[in-house]
Amino acid sequence: MIVSNKELLFLFFILLLLFSACRSTESGLFEGYDYDPEGVTETHDRKITHQHKRTVVFLSDGIWISNEFEGARVSDVYKIEPFRYRIEITPEITPINNSPWYAFKIWGDHPADVEIELFYEAGRQRYIPKISRDNRVTWSVASENEYVHDRSSNIGRLNLSVTEEKTYIAAQELFTSEHFDNWLFQITKNPFAESQTIGYSHENRELKKLLISETDGASERGVIIIYGRQHPPEIPGYKLSLFFLETLAGNSDLAKEFRHYFDIWAFPFINPDGVDNGHWRSNAAGVDLNRDWNYFRQPETAAIRNRLMDLLEIQDRKVFYGIDFHSTGRNIFYPIRSSNPAIKDRFTYRWAEKIRTEIPELSLGIQSFDPESPIAKNWTYKTFNADAVTFEVWDEIPRNQLELFGVRSAEIFMEMMLNEYHSFF
Ligand SMILES: [Zn+2]
Repeated sequence: MIVSNKELLFLFFILLLLFSACRSTESGLFEGYDYDPEGVTETHDRKITHQHKRTVVFLSDGIWISNEFEGARVSDVYKIEPFRYRIEITPEITPINNSPWYAFKIWGDHPADVEIELFYEAGRQRYIPKISRDNRVTWSVASENEYVHDRSSNIGRLNLSVTEEKTYIAAQELFTSEHFDNWLFQITKNPFAESQTIGYSHENRELKKLLISETDGASERGVIIIYGRQHPPEIPGYKLSLFFLETLAGNSDLAKEFRHYFDIWAFPFINPDGVDNGHWRSNAAGVDLNRDWNYFRQPETAAIRNRLMDLLEIQDRKVFYGIDFHSTGRNIFYPIRSSNPAIKDRFTYRWAEKIRTEIPELSLGIQSFDPESPIAKNWTYKTFNADAVTFEVWDEIPRNQLELFGVRSAEIFMEMMLNEYHSFF
């Protein structure tokens, strides 16, 4: 057989993918996924670098730049020449997974055209800037005319028309604690939904559980666990999780029937400190929370674990499934490899296939893993012997696809769960 260099290279990458999905020591201790820099799986408290919150004015240009709001991140800003500025974007801690987060507001004493350089330190560009000119209500993606990224210098250049009104620029749309609290307030107007404070973060923000329960204490009912926003910049996953939950809590006959058989224990906003401080990845102690699900050294993971352990004591409740929402470079499900016990019916694979058939434009991928790493999905599997998925939404998914994706994936999920309900006992 004659193979070309191209084919050999392709084969090499496939082999690399197969063998480099996770690293572990000889004793089998998990040391990270292939995209984890060394050391980021350490979950003891570490010291982070706080950004300096301030408003800077370049007097001769009459231009103002500020990071004095929740979710902001600007590590430094300086003028290169008139109407040209550099924003430095550094993470809260290094090493860290590549997810450079930035958010700032800019305005002028008079309208002006400016150029802003986004200078990424300890990371490469991941997010195309989002722009809001109406105080963070609506956002648009910077167009190719407005923004270019130069790979060799690792600098993004944004051309912007600045006015007296504040323009917000952010790596992804800004949805901070305030947004989640408002959402929670709305959804808990339903008589079957309630919010409970289950603990406090390092910076004393409330950690919330959303309970959706209409099973009226009936015997032998299923429980679905939802996790989300462990990683602050992963906005599409967060937004999709809210559409998903709204659909489960909706008025349709399907949702009503679903709630007759299933309770939902949801933790959609696990890392409020990281979100409000504009972190790339970690909580206020510099820890990637989704590497702490064997150790529970952090208040966020410990509070959720303690509450969920109650389920082992409740005789007539059985955890059927867990979903952990994230975002990455494409729409993809990470199920547990089906050779593991409790995954034999391949629920996640069949669910993904149905979504893929119905909404092909999402190009939903699927990649399975063995459940040894200390992440929420695997802890759910090991603790409750229940199937679970990491539900990854594409960072740059067209935002008008989010509702369709969230609603339909929830509806298909409910149909399948109801059909297969009795097989779970
Ligand atoms: Zn994530």
